[in-house]
Amino acid sequence: MAADYAVALVRSDYPKLVGALPALTRDLRESLLREGEADLAAQLDEVRVHALCACDDPACLGVYLAPERGPCVGHYRVVTPDAVVTLGVCREQLDWIDDNESIGSARLNSERRREYEALRPHVPARTD
Ligand SMILES: [Zn+2]
Repeated sequence: MAADYAVALVRSDYPKLVGALPALTRDLRESLLREGEADLAAQLDEVRVHALCACDDPACLGVYLAPERGPCVGHYRVVTPDAVVTLGVCREQLDWIDDNESIGSARLNSERRREYEALRPHVPARTD
């Protein structure tokens, strides 16, 4: 019991996506609602940023929303005004966000990039 409580405390320290990356969250929400994915859109208000991507691609704005990247079978492509973003969905839960130049144009969105760089010192970095 004590261990579970400690984990809960640590998890609550991770910033909420909607507060940390509001421009990305707004674009994802608009797209998901347009596609009729209200359940996924609602999760945007609750999910927390567990880590940012540590790869060396300067155009990558990848986000991890769970302690480890799960074996997701569901990949969800979201078309924002400037990019195609891929959402990993594991057991119907948002798990990760791929936002990079190989699938979209993250480099060109200065607002998303600025928020991402501002968040970087406050959360861990990892690659899987
Ligand atoms: Zn990356």
